Amino acid sequence: MFLTITTTGTPQRPATDLGFLLHKHPDRAQAFSTSYGTAHVLYPEAGVDRCTAALLLDVDAVALVRRGKGKGRGGAPDAALAQYVNDRPYAASSLLAVALSAVFSSAMRGVCKARPERAAEPLPLRVEVPAVPARGGVDLVRRLFEPLGWRVAAEPVPLDTAFPEWGDSRYVRLTLESAELTLAEALRHLYVLLPVLDDAKHYWVAPDEVDKLLRAGEGWLPGHPEQQLITSRYLSRRWSLTREARERLELVRLAEADDTDVEEIDNAVGAEREVEEKPTPLAVQRRDAIIAALGDRGAARVLDLGCGQGQLVQALLKDARFTEIVGVDVSMRALTIASRRLKVDRMGERQAARVKLFQGSLAYTDNRLKGYDAAVLSEVVEHLDPPRLPALEYAVFGAARPRTVLVTTPNVEYNVRWESLPAGHVRHRDHRFEWTRAEFRTWAEAVARRHGYDVRFQAVGPDDPEVGPPTQMAVFTVENVKEAKAA
Ligand code: SAH
Repeated sequence: MFLTITTTGTPQRPATDLGFLLHKHPDRAQAFSTSYGTAHVLYPEAGVDRCTAALLLDVDAVALVRRGKGKGRGGAPDAALAQYVNDRPYAASSLLAVALSAVFSSAMRGVCKARPERAAEPLPLRVEVPAVPARGGVDLVRRLFEPLGWRVAAEPVPLDTAFPEWGDSRYVRLTLESAELTLAEALRHLYVLLPVLDDAKHYWVAPDEVDKLLRAGEGWLPGHPEQQLITSRYLSRRWSLTREARERLELVRLAEADDTDVEEIDNAVGAEREVEEKPTPLAVQRRDAIIAALGDRGAARVLDLGCGQGQLVQALLKDARFTEIVGVDVSMRALTIASRRLKVDRMGERQAARVKLFQGSLAYTDNRLKGYDAAVLSEVVEHLDPPRLPALEYAVFGAARPRTVLVTTPNVEYNVRWESLPAGHVRHRDHRFEWTRAEFRTWAEAVARRHGYDVRFQAVGPDDPEVGPPTQMAVFTVENVKEAKAA
């Protein structure tokens, strides 16, 4: 069983720093013996641009059985042969999680004397695990990892490629990508969630597992929408432990909500801030343009879809014309920061009644989004892979159908005007694409046609005679909010 961790870099921030962060030198293959076999760490590639570390666990199935630990699911011993012939040697499971924590324990704690500043900052990461037993399927994999800021690709592994009619096995090939997490956070997510997906622990769950779970879950488990499932599966459904963990998590959540400084978190999540925001407060101009357009349309109840850290929600709250403001984002981390920024827990009742934040993905239709006056997608579409855009389009224009939809996105033509942006680069490392004015227009006009909306375009920021404005905004309007007949 194995997993790989890849990062990319530049000459100033070489990808090979991964070796420092993991405390394992890229030039040497190293082996560590654990109670269940040997863990190898090696680097299939180690360059300035790209560096990949692989953790390979060579499980000794016989030792596993001899130690009385080759139990099957739910703790019942498998049939005699199954003890030897089972998935443990190759499927990523709790064994791999234990190996991770043994081999990368400093990295998991975020300790790195050689590169302390890099250990503390998010970096582009790609994690691949070829076979994860996923009880709950691809859907559960998404529900576990997406709220933490991962982009998830999980493909079911066929039972036997020679017999496709046999269908899929319960394994998935998992690829996770993110640019918003530190390596320590990423390792802690894997340490907890791999065994949760497997839903079978190879060892007896002792009471100190609660401590391990809380330590590894620090900073992300308390606000995770699947916290209950994670806790219960991680603790092998031992109710007394599960209850203890939940109570302690609740305490952590309350304490955190109280004393964390928003500024401090903003700094830690600096990667989310876009290049453009340093030279010009373009973000402010964008918010002003959005608020003016909402005002023109007389919108009072507004959705901020992909609200991120809640800056727009905060600005809307200050304006009495907006009576209900709903921020939606797929990232739990962003929502946690948004809720701290807004000080939701310290708001008066009337303010609190005006604002709601919830987790959701725009790639799925969601009844909670119906019945609003307007929806804003500010700098969101470019964060979706192009094949997912039709799903977003349907969820917003087909199903939610507010009278007004505002979409802003970077104008890629303007990128030559950013001094700090090297040629050919996008403005933010999570952007899947950036459109020219013509490309945006083509997309927006097609969307409007398909769903019976009118659309007009507006420049945000200085409108350069040659390359246009830095931000482009489409204002979609419809008077009849009933489902349009497909054009
Ligand atoms: N609207 C904010 C944030 C833009 S960053 C602003 O203008 O500053 C893009 C945001 O979209 C991120 O917070 C990201 O988590 C969110 N996002 C990306 N894909 C999403 C999806 N499928 N569903 C919901 N939110 C998504």
